[in-house]
Formats: sequence, structure tokens, C-alpha cells
Amino acid sequence: MTITFEPPADFDYSIESPRYGAYQGINPRAGLQEARALIEHAILHQPRSLQKRIGPSEIGTPCDHCLAAKLAGWPSTEKDVPWLPFIGTAVHSALEDMFINHEIHRNAINTTGLRYLGEHRTMVGQIDGEDIWGSVDLTDLATGMTVDWKIVGKTTLDAARRGPSEVYRAQAHLYAKGLCDEGFDIRHVSIAYLPRNAMSLAQAVWWTEPHNRAVAENALARANRFALNIRALRTIGQEAVDGWITNLPRYANCRDCERFPDYKPQARDDEFSDLARK
Ligand code: SF4
Repeated sequence: MTITFEPPADFDYSIESPRYGAYQGINPRAGLQEARALIEHAILHQPRSLQKRIGPSEIGTPCDHCLAAKLAGWPSTEKDVPWLPFIGTAVHSALEDMFINHEIHRNAINTTGLRYLGEHRTMVGQIDGEDIWGSVDLTDLATGMTVDWKIVGKTTLDAARRGPSEVYRAQAHLYAKGLCDEGFDIRHVSIAYLPRNAMSLAQAVWWTEPHNRAVAENALARANRFALNIRALRTIGQEAVDGWITNLPRYANCRDCERFPDYKPQARDDEFSDLARK
């Protein structure tokens, strides 16, 4: 594999650089391998993959182990390049462009004012004294509503018809809280579950409910309790923190737990077995 990600260290910038690279006779299969390596490198190094601090999308998880591990800054190792999340990120980016272009086209900023805000950054609250920021996929000021895009497969889409998971619901209300704290008049939250592999948007699920600040505050309060516990245990030592987290209950049937360093198949318990994974 010959692909490099940095400029050549010995390049002489005083000469005029060639506009196009020369044919090098690279084997086509090797060329494709390099293209794949470039894609995987980019995915693994995009901000979402590198994010270490807990974000609004994780604060409301009902899994105690996951919340504590994230708050304690545990490393999590992806088993593979996160291709499905990348598809989600790419669709988010395209949707953002659509709404921004719509507002530019109608010159909203110089006439009626913006109706739509794409990927507006907002501070949803604090955990252990630290500001927690997130990016709201879409804010519709005319409706007073946040919209969270979820690009999902059939299983999640089917589950979404029964309502959102706790973690998605908390995320939506955290964003709305952040916007309200900024002074925006937000009265509703919504989640648009867009099918990743259906032929049309007819399969999408559009969920909404009135903004309930208490959902956001309760999620933050729980996270703060966990963070305080972690802080107290750190005074004893990192082993005390790790031991506490390892013994916390986990979601049954969650397929992602291998990414944490303490994963052992037999360490699972059924504490949350009554909670259907949505
Ligand atoms: S069971 Fe799932 S939600 Fe819980 S810690 Fe493991 S990966 Fe996270």
C-alpha cells in the first residue's frame, strides 16, 4: 500500500509544482485498495469518529455502563470502519446543504429572516461543570421545532413506529433546551427517521412531541450524578473507577459492547432485559 496522507517532506516548493500527477503504472486492484484506504482513513479521522467527550446523543442512554464509560473517558475501539454512521453523516451533510441553499435562494437573511437553521451549535447544559455542546440537525423557527435526522435500517425504522428510544428522545429535548436557553422560541421536538435502504421516503417515520424541558434536565441530572461518583472514585484511584463501571448493568443483547476494554461475553447480565432495544 503506497498511499500517503501528508505532503512529501522533501518537496521543493520553490519550483513550479506539476498540476497533475504522472501515470505511475499502478496495478488497478492496488489502485482500488488505495482508494478504499483513503476512504477508511477519512472516516476514522472525521470529527465524529474522534469525538471523546460525551455528547447530547449519548447523555440519555438507559445503559448505566455506557453512560459511565463515556463520562470516564474510556477508550472505545471500533471493530471495523464505521461505514453505516458515515452514510448517516453524509446524508446529514446533504440535508444541511438543501436547507441552507433554500434560505440563500429566497434571500431569507435580508428579507423575512431565516426560518431554517442547519446544524446550529447549541450548549445543552453542563456535566460536572463542563459545557456540553451539540449540533441541532435542523431548527425550524416558524414551527418552533427541532428536527433530528436519523438515517436508519429497517429494524430501527420498524421500532420507531412505536416511538423513539430513550436516548433519542433525551437528545431531542436537550437540543430544544439549549435553543430555548439561547432565547429561541422552541415548543416542539421531532425526529425524522429516514430509511437507509428503501426506495422512497414513503417508508420514513416522522415523530414529534411538545418540548418537555424536564426530559433534558433529568438526563443531565443523572449524568451529573454519575460524573460526581466518578470524580469521587478517582480520589481512590483509576482502578476504583474502572471496577465500578465494569460492575454497572448493561443493555442486554447490545451488540456493541465489544468496543469497551472490559468486555467479556459472560460479564453481561440481564438487568435491562425488559427494555426492548429500539
Ligand atoms: S451494553 Fe451497549 S449500551 Fe451498554 S455499555 Fe455496552 S455498548 Fe454501551
